[in-house]
Amino acid sequence: MKRGFVNKTILMGAFCILVLGCGRFGMAEDYEPERDYESGADEDIFKEPAYPDYLVLVNKEHPLPDGWEEGIDIIEMTNSRGNVVEIESTAYEAFLELQYELTLEGVSIDLDNAYRSVSEQEWLVDTFTEKYGEGYVEQYVAVPGYSEHHTGLALDLYLIVDGEEMYYNEELTEKPEVWEIVHNNLADYGFILRYPEGKEEITGYSYEPWHIRYVGVDAAQQMMWQGLTLEEYMGEA
Ligand SMILES: [Zn+2]
Repeated sequence: MKRGFVNKTILMGAFCILVLGCGRFGMAEDYEPERDYESGADEDIFKEPAYPDYLVLVNKEHPLPDGWEEGIDIIEMTNSRGNVVEIESTAYEAFLELQYELTLEGVSIDLDNAYRSVSEQEWLVDTFTEKYGEGYVEQYVAVPGYSEHHTGLALDLYLIVDGEEMYYNEELTEKPEVWEIVHNNLADYGFILRYPEGKEEITGYSYEPWHIRYVGVDAAQQMMWQGLTLEEYMGEA
């Protein structure tokens, strides 16, 4: 895919083509119990998990939960290419730690794309339909509401190898030895490789070495140890 001739937003949509959805909530990893002062109850009681639920499942079957976008803290960062990328704040802190650790291992990564709103996705669909037709859109562009990028917790990485930024899919897939180092570090920082090889039928997506997802450290480590996708971990496979 050529990326130079369309603007960044279109590229992000085409590049990542993620059409995920969500639906049920898992236990948020670290939401805090609230004390019921009014009734004088001594014991901690649990209420509905506050947003964001870092285990939220958004894929082709599960749309983004209602109200999600109003409940998350989205911040902006500027990547090495000078592009502004929006991302959920906790996921960004974790990304910075991962990025730093990787530099110690001689690998340089940066953020190509993270949060993408439902309305941006709608715009993408309209734009691509106009340019390439409905068939193309059905095959390659996520249905608005069903992209994991709506959560703010899904990240597309690119590599900087020998000072050169690599962000085309074709270039990125030619660096398996670099991705291996990246992937080996993900769980310690709360990330999973969202679309691993061999799990295509479960995730609904081809292998994407660059697309990672923040779920929190405990869940990420459990998924890694057990070799589970988020769908499997959430009992939705
Ligand atoms: Zn992606």
